[in-house]
Amino acid sequence: MTNHLFSLVRDGVPDPAKTVIETPEGRRYTYADLIARSGAYAAALQAAGVQPGDRVAVQVEKSPEVIFLYLGVVRAGAAFLPLNTAYTPAEIGYFLGDAEPTIFVCDPGKREALAQAASGIRAIWTLDAAGTGSAAEAADRQVGDVTDVPRGPEDLAAILYTSGTTGRSKGAMLTHDNLASNARTLVDVWRFTEDDVLIHALPVFHTHGLFVATNTVLASGGTMLFLPRLDPKLILSLMGRATALMGVPTFYTRLLKEPGLTQEAARGMRLFVSGSAPLLAETHREWQARTGHAILERYGMTETNMSTSNPYAGDRVAGTVGFPLPGVSLRVVDPETGAALGPDAVGMIEVKGPNVFKGYWRMPEKTEAEFQPDGFFITGDLGKVDTRGYVHIVGRGKDLIISGGFNVYPKEVETEIDALPGVVESAVIGLAHPDFGEAVTAVVVGGMNAPDEAGVLAALEGRLARFKCPKRVLFVDELPRNTMGKVQKNLLREAHAGLYRA
Ligand code: AMP
Repeated sequence: MTNHLFSLVRDGVPDPAKTVIETPEGRRYTYADLIARSGAYAAALQAAGVQPGDRVAVQVEKSPEVIFLYLGVVRAGAAFLPLNTAYTPAEIGYFLGDAEPTIFVCDPGKREALAQAASGIRAIWTLDAAGTGSAAEAADRQVGDVTDVPRGPEDLAAILYTSGTTGRSKGAMLTHDNLASNARTLVDVWRFTEDDVLIHALPVFHTHGLFVATNTVLASGGTMLFLPRLDPKLILSLMGRATALMGVPTFYTRLLKEPGLTQEAARGMRLFVSGSAPLLAETHREWQARTGHAILERYGMTETNMSTSNPYAGDRVAGTVGFPLPGVSLRVVDPETGAALGPDAVGMIEVKGPNVFKGYWRMPEKTEAEFQPDGFFITGDLGKVDTRGYVHIVGRGKDLIISGGFNVYPKEVETEIDALPGVVESAVIGLAHPDFGEAVTAVVVGGMNAPDEAGVLAALEGRLARFKCPKRVLFVDELPRNTMGKVQKNLLREAHAGLYRA
């Protein structure tokens, strides 16, 4: 048996002397370097006692070395467990206690603060943004070739904790084939080849930057320009030598603020992909007008990898996430009865396929509760499939507002508000209300000439049924977002919880 996921990388290697990762400072790594360096990490982990099936937890700044470490963990037969760099020591304490990794790799600057959180761990290694630290030194010490630990399609390759806006974070267990099959599919449907050069400016602790972006490029034998973070000017300056960009919607709104973003600047690019949060239809249109490219929006989540994508050839429809990927089954069901719904009816999105994770780490009841008996995973996202087969995401089920007994889908109200002249964007939430149970409440970011509360309410009258119209409209300078660009509605609900209290 081979190492199922790493074979995908090995088999994709074009010329070993070809560059796989390049940094803005001009550091270049070839595919031969990637094989050698990930092998050195695998050997170092084994020498430190990491056994197949163990977990290796990692909270470090982005650098090419993290990718070599990730592949080293996979080659050692262990599960890679990346953690958001924003997590505090107390949060890290929870993850380490839950996952019980054999080794924890952290930033040298945080080692002391994390000592308590990591007290039960066999070894703590360090790795900084420059790719140096005791982890890198342990890899430096290895000589000779490592034999990849054989791993089958069903074996664990990674655990990614979900962001957990309600309740405790859950560790999504991803198998070798979840990751390998999804990468293969994305190479096919997005037509990646070894000629591709991807601008990689996403974090590598999240499924988007680690798997969607990195695995897809590695499986195609392409190259990544590895940026530490979103830097619109730098991205713009690299477009001349790149072919593709993958980003969250914030990438596109920020790039649109750059006067240098023109058809000419994007001439050599063939693909712009957006996901992880909804892309405003307006951003899609503006991007097309400025660059001549239609952004390709796709949908996925930590637990399912990618599930749908707008077509490479064919209509990329703004405000939709396209069609289920080959091999993925997607259905929309009535959340109460579980009955399958027809075209255009909004309900719970469920997916099944080789992309769907194995379950939540050490939470068998949660796992059971979120899978249907026929194997479909209940995503928690509400949406619909239109008559042309395009999937639309309406929002998270937990963001659904029930006001006076009626269901209100925030997206529908947000779309109307966002279309008003002077409005930049909005978030619609439900807040406790003595009469209605929940009251529809709009939080609006206004630009120049934005309407006031009365103006927004007057504009919505006649456009939305009365029960969908906000009871109040609040104005803010910006919406709270997490690192992946998702609006944190839970924070808005907490901040305004008492708005309708007598
Ligand atoms: P995460 O597990 O952090 O990747 O978050 C997954 C969630 O992000 C999904 O369940 C959706 O609610 C949301 N999401 C991802 N892609 C999109 C998209 N293209 N449009 C709207 N929501 C999205």
